[in-house]
Amino acid sequence: MIDVCNIQKIKELLGKYGFRFSKAKGQNFLTQRWVPERIVSESGIDSTCGVLEIGPGFGPLTQELCKKAGKVVALELDTTLKPVLAETVGEFDNLEIIFTDAMKADLPTVVAEKFHGLRPAACANLPYYITSPVLSKLLESKCFSSVTVMVQKEVAQRICSKAGSADYSSFTVMCNYYAEPELLFDVPAHCFIPQPKVTSAVVRLKVRTEAPAPIRDETLFFRTVRAAFALRRKTLLNCLSAGFGEFNKEQLTEIMEHCGLSPSVRGETLTIEQFALLANTIWERKQKP
Ligand code: SAH
Repeated sequence: MIDVCNIQKIKELLGKYGFRFSKAKGQNFLTQRWVPERIVSESGIDSTCGVLEIGPGFGPLTQELCKKAGKVVALELDTTLKPVLAETVGEFDNLEIIFTDAMKADLPTVVAEKFHGLRPAACANLPYYITSPVLSKLLESKCFSSVTVMVQKEVAQRICSKAGSADYSSFTVMCNYYAEPELLFDVPAHCFIPQPKVTSAVVRLKVRTEAPAPIRDETLFFRTVRAAFALRRKTLLNCLSAGFGEFNKEQLTEIMEHCGLSPSVRGETLTIEQFALLANTIWERKQKP
């Protein structure tokens, strides 16, 4: 197996194929073998898994995944990587590479068609310019049992933060609604070529089989969460008032009281269970105004 984390080998491949890193495609390639090894070992992926990788690059994580998983499907946007990947991961017969934009891919169809009889998981060193939309897409597709990703450290902290902390956001609530996130380890900038400006971190999201709290209407739940975070440093009442024009402040105060929430509370202190109760109460008031 070609060591695609060896800097000499990387330089050789760059020269041989005239490959140039694209900043726009978020290309920062791993140069330290321990990183993909540790990502895969801590992801819990084994031979019973079908793994979707996004952005294989030169294939360091792909190689480790192919060694452990039953099957690997990798989605890569950059077609100029085709000949490089043929050389670096061409030997694996449990790998399929699809040259497409991961944001446009129909993930449930890929999973259904490619991972028959296997436990679907996702694992990626995500291109940082689309971290949040890709992660949302992976979770919202509801077809992976776990999602292990490398992201910017500050995004990892946001995903894993607790209610009331400065990093807590609607993205945190979304991730925690679909999964139980866990911060695994940091990856310093010197582990990549070219080196990114920020430290990275690996997060494992164990996807929930059941919602963390009973929710009447998912769309209304997420609308409530977005409204609560839309205006920072404003009270929840003001946020709801701005986000739910169909209710007046009196009605919203009554809804909050029903949920045991003080009129001065801020949205960013609410737990997922409190958001669920709030959204369910709004839902009920909408049924009988
Ligand atoms: N996994 C490799 C490369 C990470 S860099 C490594 O760890 O070394 C991110 C990779 O994602 C690049 O290969 C880039 O071309 C690819 N990429 C960027 N945008 C993408 C998209 N929308 N869909 C699929 N792949 C994408």
